[in-house]
Amino acid sequence: MRITGIELIRYSRGITVHAGAVDWLWVRLHTDSGITGLGETYPCSDAEAGAISRELAPVLLGADPSRIDKLWADMFTAVQYHGWAGAEMRAMSAIDIALWDIAGKAAGMPIHQLLGGATRNTIPVYNTCYDHVDFHTAPVQLAGELLGMGIRAMKIWPFDPIAKRNRGNAITAEEIREGAEPLRLIKKEFGDAMQVAMEFHGYWNLPSARKIAAAIEPLDPMWLEEMLPQDNMASYRELANATRIPLTISERLMTRWGFRELLENRAASVIMPDICWCGGISEAKKIASMAETYYLPVAPHNCGGPVLHFASAHLAANLNNLFILETVRRHYLDEYRGLLTADLIPVEGMLPAPAGPGLGADLAPEVLKRPNATVSWLS
Ligand SMILES: [Mg+2]
Repeated sequence: MRITGIELIRYSRGITVHAGAVDWLWVRLHTDSGITGLGETYPCSDAEAGAISRELAPVLLGADPSRIDKLWADMFTAVQYHGWAGAEMRAMSAIDIALWDIAGKAAGMPIHQLLGGATRNTIPVYNTCYDHVDFHTAPVQLAGELLGMGIRAMKIWPFDPIAKRNRGNAITAEEIREGAEPLRLIKKEFGDAMQVAMEFHGYWNLPSARKIAAAIEPLDPMWLEEMLPQDNMASYRELANATRIPLTISERLMTRWGFRELLENRAASVIMPDICWCGGISEAKKIASMAETYYLPVAPHNCGGPVLHFASAHLAANLNNLFILETVRRHYLDEYRGLLTADLIPVEGMLPAPAGPGLGADLAPEVLKRPNATVSWLS
């Protein structure tokens, strides 16, 4: 089998998260056998599409798509010289997912089968609360709705507006009480029935992070995610040593080498790669295996598009050291609807392992005709 063409579909969502627009890029690899492979990355579809057309396409066109590890290494060589930790690695991630989709379709098996088989039939999930119910103003209502769906863990980021006041350089006792209030209210109402992960998006400096962690420790959050930026793992270790709450790090790290430094510094208790950013399914599996050697669990980051959702479920079904998988109800109940040929929705708080073959879902043909979808071809 040979790769004969690369189809790039840039999908503008018209929404802004944090600093900028978040678009999805879908990649379809076409082959001379007629099998196509679907991949995805985000958020800067122009940059990622540019990396594919200029740097990765020459490696891929005419190549045998079944040689996934070789193609990963060849793509890495193509981008390593001038720096790979950005759009280049996100682009490689999308290609890697598409290669696994081809492998699964060629074998007639779901991707999780090719990874070594399912360790579990259903996947524990938490809900990340980009939601029509605001966790700042209605945290108890939101937690109650999730519990009604059978979902017993949720993620919120109530300290972000406080960090933005002074770039996370300092925090007062009053501001800590303000930031902790949604967590306190949920715990007061539901106790241990709802686990609450606290997300900080890397906004804080070390002394502020230590103060926040110490103050909310009695409320027993599930984890503290990305309290600091991800560029100094020795400082992260100081934070880890200062709190008994597990630290979760980081969707922002890429490749096994990025996670090597994190693991060797003992900075995290939970490892959080994003398949669309870290280097794809291949790299996420390797990162998870590295984490396992440190007796650490993995909680894959899954806050992108619908292809990431399926790919993450395949990996989560397989991983022996899975903790819990991120999901967003606004995505799977609303925004993903109609984009793929299948849905993947939790049942009683657990996500089913996708059936396959390959990812188990393709782009719905009508999506390509939408005005916010821009299609281009490389061949
Ligand atoms: Mg995060």
